Amino acid sequence: MIKRISYLGLGTMGSGMVSNLLKAGYKLTVWNRDAEKCEPFARKGARTADTPADAVRDAELVMYCLSNDQAVEEVVFAAKGILHGITEGQIAVDMSTVMPATSLREQEAYAKHGVDFLDVPVFGSKQESAEAKLWIMAAGDKAIFEKVKPVLEHLGQTVHYFDKNGNAAAMKLVGNLIVALELEALAEGLVLAQKAGLDLNTVMEVVKVADFRSPLLVSIGQNISKRDFSTSFALKLMLKDAGLIETFAGSLGSPIPALRVVGNNLASAVALGFGNENASALIKALEDEAGIEVPGDSR
Ligand code: NAP
Repeated sequence: MIKRISYLGLGTMGSGMVSNLLKAGYKLTVWNRDAEKCEPFARKGARTADTPADAVRDAELVMYCLSNDQAVEEVVFAAKGILHGITEGQIAVDMSTVMPATSLREQEAYAKHGVDFLDVPVFGSKQESAEAKLWIMAAGDKAIFEKVKPVLEHLGQTVHYFDKNGNAAAMKLVGNLIVALELEALAEGLVLAQKAGLDLNTVMEVVKVADFRSPLLVSIGQNISKRDFSTSFALKLMLKDAGLIETFAGSLGSPIPALRVVGNNLASAVALGFGNENASALIKALEDEAGIEVPGDSR
């Protein structure tokens, strides 16, 4: 049974997960590029480390959740990275949203050190991470998955196994393709409703109950109604994911015409300066074009 875990990357998602691992009684070592983010966990008994290589030394399981492929490159592969500290028999788990090809590269590199690897991306955001309600996907060797699953069950409400390495990373991109289109659909719909002079509260009442309803549309719609764009999932990360989806789908010859449009709108919203706001700030690119704000006066 796994008892000692190292966790690297204490951002929005990682910090929620580490809190829940501490609550579950695991012995934690934490590392973050900005070391200040380690302090709240050190106060709760976690060991802190100066480098990724140092962080992973005495752990049975090494987990990380980092922004993007570049961050994985630096934390895993670079000098003082995980690969310079990890040894045979340990298990590594990447929870970041990255290219499936990156997961495969990680698996190959770890295998050279006798280390097993799972790609374990997640659905859910800041709140689901904090409340251990994530929807988790995992891929890699089945026996290793079974060993890690009890840990994952402390972080999420579901855990789905996706067979060989790279498949969970691929499922994450499939899911985020759908999320991106939902976001765009909601944003376009709310701007049109505003232009048409519809009452936003009544519009949202219908969005909540109609046969096209979804929890994502409701929670994001309510936040837009309040002009609350505080970050659970940064717009710039959604733009990053649109790029990953485009590359991945392109490599398989799978058509994504709508995603390309969303990608352009995400890029416009980032160019307008909203990259660090929540992904729902995508609507601001459409509002800019429409010359209105939701909610506000219709034109
Ligand atoms: P975040 O709050 O921006 O945290 C990113 C983490 O990556 C931080 O710990 C950051 O360190 C670290 N990092 C970034 N670049 C780095 C580098 N070059 N070297 C070392 N560390 C680096 O992001 P998040 O929302 O937690 O997301 C993390 C991952 O989960 C992303 O891949 C995202 O797409 C995915 N995800 C997010 C959500 C969500 O709703 N937020 C949901 C599902 C999946 P510093 O603190 O030093 O900057």
